[in-house]
Amino acid sequence: MSNLSNNYIAGDWVKGASSISNINPSNTNDVIGEFAQASNSQLEDALNSAQVAQRQWAATGLEQRQAVLMKIGEEMMARSAELGELLSREEGKPVAEGKGEVYRAGQFFTYYAAEVLRQGGDTADSVRPNIEIDVRREPMGTVAIISPWNFPTATASWKIAPALAFGNAVIWKPANLTPASAVALTEIISKQDIPKGLFNLVMGSGSSIGQSLAESPKVHAISFTGSYDVGRQIAGAAAKNLTKFQLELGSKNPLVVMDDADMDVAVAAATGGAFGSTGQKCTASSRLVVHASIHDEFVERMSQSTSALKVGDALQEGTQIGPAASQQQLDSNLKYMALAKEEGCEVVCGGNKLELDNPGFYMQPALLIGGNNSMRVNREELFAPMACVIKVADYEEALSVANDTEFGLVSGIITQSLSRASHFRRNAESGCVMVNLPTAGTDYHVPFGGRKNSSFGPREQGTYAKELYTQVKTSYISSGNP
Ligand code: NAP
Ligand code: MG
Repeated sequence: MSNLSNNYIAGDWVKGASSISNINPSNTNDVIGEFAQASNSQLEDALNSAQVAQRQWAATGLEQRQAVLMKIGEEMMARSAELGELLSREEGKPVAEGKGEVYRAGQFFTYYAAEVLRQGGDTADSVRPNIEIDVRREPMGTVAIISPWNFPTATASWKIAPALAFGNAVIWKPANLTPASAVALTEIISKQDIPKGLFNLVMGSGSSIGQSLAESPKVHAISFTGSYDVGRQIAGAAAKNLTKFQLELGSKNPLVVMDDADMDVAVAAATGGAFGSTGQKCTASSRLVVHASIHDEFVERMSQSTSALKVGDALQEGTQIGPAASQQQLDSNLKYMALAKEEGCEVVCGGNKLELDNPGFYMQPALLIGGNNSMRVNREELFAPMACVIKVADYEEALSVANDTEFGLVSGIITQSLSRASHFRRNAESGCVMVNLPTAGTDYHVPFGGRKNSSFGPREQGTYAKELYTQVKTSYISSGNP
């Protein structure tokens, strides 16, 4: 077998029980390589070695831990062009986005390198005389990280970096659709001066190795990003063992466009937010909630900007929208297009499969109008380059439609009114709010997460990440004198 990439377990690169082929979605004739699939006994090896390595790592000096994280981050940033191209080749996002993602992933490591030194807990006097209290955070132990394919490097990095920074060992199960990015990041981590077994890459399908990892009593915390359905399964597995966990799931993000919106800002935010990364973002603006008085002008402008988007090979200069990440994703997109029409939406532009020079999973981004918020296409996460315009009479209706969803990751509003923007910011039922910005696009030094069915457990990113990756210990110290 040519070009086989292995798993990284207990400090060694090891062959798996079987392997899978990684295909370029922009050109299905391009096989990126073969990737090993770990067996359950290899997963056990990883878990056992992690337990030992974690104790060594937690006892390692802070400056060494900081240096390790800094080196990983710096190498990723320095190699973002090369690794970004690899990411785009296997995932299908335009290469500029792939490079940007790898660079951002590096920033998570350098950010958490600095967090290593932000030590400090609380002290208190006991209510009893001559007793002092020390409250501090300790690592959880072994953390299971299960990540999706749509941001294969960034999502994993915003979990791996804080896990290591706060003294934990890691078992990483990446998505099988994007194993090359996982191996690339693991190679960088494997070069560092860390205990054998501290960091393990365990590739395999979610339903086999992912499920076993989530169910393992040797795991002390689980961080999962992915779909709602799988998230609920992880929650069930974690609950059985009383394992701490965190879920970042899907969404159905609304972008409200008010009658006083700057139309250029609105069109740019809606186009980028809806179709960026082929709509395969948990933060995608799939519901465009538009004030009736500017509806027709907005739709006209959106139709122009959507039709002008260049769909093509992710690695080709000038491509703005790559292919769907897989045949399965493309099939699902086309099914949702058919459903939208069945439910009564009118297709303004796009929505068809595209045949280009390369065989790939291409489709034209679609703008839909005439829909309402009770249609399935406006309630279910599509993960497709599809945006549905929902016409509303006023701000009150806009807010109510925006909040009328089972999800709650990001809500956005385009308005020049400070009072509406402030009201929206306070009343949107989502974990993140964007004012005059696309729903997609967040920073790395502040918390990220959602409400309702979009998230569960502690927030990710920024200093808030320590809620998952550490546990609190309260010590009482008596001087021995009565
Ligand atoms: P997914 O199918 O839920 O898979 C996510 C990960 O879970 C993959 O590594 C998958 O492995 C694994 N998995 C599947 N079944 C499993 C099981 N029974 N037990 C343990 N692990 C299992 O999601 P996806 O299709 O990769 O990603 C798209 C979803 O992620 C969307 O819903 C999107 O909104 C969400 N997402 C959310 C955020 C956020 O921060 N809120 C960010 C990005 C993406 P395999 O794929 O290898 O089988
Ligand atoms: Mg692939």
